[in-house]
Amino acid sequence: MPCRESGRWFGSLFWAAVIVAALSACGNEQGHLLQFSGPTMGTTYSVKVVQTGAGVNREKLQAAIDQVLARVNQQLSTYDKDSELSQINRNSSTDWIPVSQDLLAVVAEAQRVSRLTDGAFDITVGPLVNLWGFGPEIKQDEIPSDEAIHEAMVRVSFERIHTRADPPAIRKDRSDIYIDLSALGEGFGADKVAEYLESQGLSDYMVAVAGAIRVKGHNVKGSPWIIAIEEPTPGKRAAHRVIQITDNGLSTSGDYRNFFEKDGQRYSHEIDPKTGRPIQHRLASATVVSPTAMEADAMATALMVMGEEKGFSLAEGQKLAAFFIVKNDNGFKELNTWAFNQYLAQ
Ligand code: FAD
Repeated sequence: MPCRESGRWFGSLFWAAVIVAALSACGNEQGHLLQFSGPTMGTTYSVKVVQTGAGVNREKLQAAIDQVLARVNQQLSTYDKDSELSQINRNSSTDWIPVSQDLLAVVAEAQRVSRLTDGAFDITVGPLVNLWGFGPEIKQDEIPSDEAIHEAMVRVSFERIHTRADPPAIRKDRSDIYIDLSALGEGFGADKVAEYLESQGLSDYMVAVAGAIRVKGHNVKGSPWIIAIEEPTPGKRAAHRVIQITDNGLSTSGDYRNFFEKDGQRYSHEIDPKTGRPIQHRLASATVVSPTAMEADAMATALMVMGEEKGFSLAEGQKLAAFFIVKNDNGFKELNTWAFNQYLAQ
């Protein structure tokens, strides 16, 4: 059963918005709520800003948010053939390749998470992502041959890319390394929009780019932002848990929106670089709260690839605020790290 719901994160986004709207409907307003949304990165974004001070020019703010996200797309997209990343992927040089500070920051964060997760998170996994049909070229829901998987795997290893801070550059040990930043690019986009809002003196906002969220300050009722963690059931939109957070990033990764099924087996877009295949365990979704949306986005994907045992012990060891929904014979069970307790106690 092909099930590539392109609106997956629109769904979560939708739930975040619905929950926020619903719960913001009771109580007295503490400011004026401005809302913005639009398409980005093959999905959608939503921005809510509580305006308490001087007037904000809506049109100017909307245009600026779109411009910030368009820039991130021009830097990090593998879907735009002319993006900075696509040009790097086509560049066969194994010498230093000059890059923008932004792209360097994203690759450096990805490498940090790769080292932390012993390569479970690996942005060089792009050839496998594309082989399994989850990349820019839309492919049939086919299971690749063992030979094709082996051929792609020889190009995958995060240790074969290097970063240099000054002047900013990256280097590939193999000319055919192909980098895919989809696992943390949305989080980076949310952080860049947040950075822009703060540069305009706006400090009460929720920014959601697909499922990567960044919040600060309070919602229009003066309380922390209210976020829904979606029930990880394909084809269903339901809130599994509702939490309140502020001054943080949050992201959820899962195997229930972007997948195909063959002979009763689900193949999702979370690829294990060690096997060259989509993950095959019972973790349905992982939610992470971190200081930035980019870190939360990367860590949520990493924990999804690691699975509930290894992922949970890493998250607990790192004192990461993580929430796991695991399939069991009766549906789902929950697992959360000690650091996540604060969000469940509300
Ligand atoms: P996440 O769990 O956040 O990320 C999963 C993705 O990470 C996979 O799809 C794969 O690409 C990658 N991945 C898989 N396994 C690993 C691993 N082990 N380590 C590291 N990474 C891994 N999609 C479109 O359809 N059209 C577009 O035009 C488009 N443009 C984009 C532009 C940008 C700048 C970015 C960042 C992404 C774009 N995308 C586009 C992809 C889409 O937005 C999502 O990024 C994609 O669906 C994955 O994000 P997610 O939140 O669903 O899952």
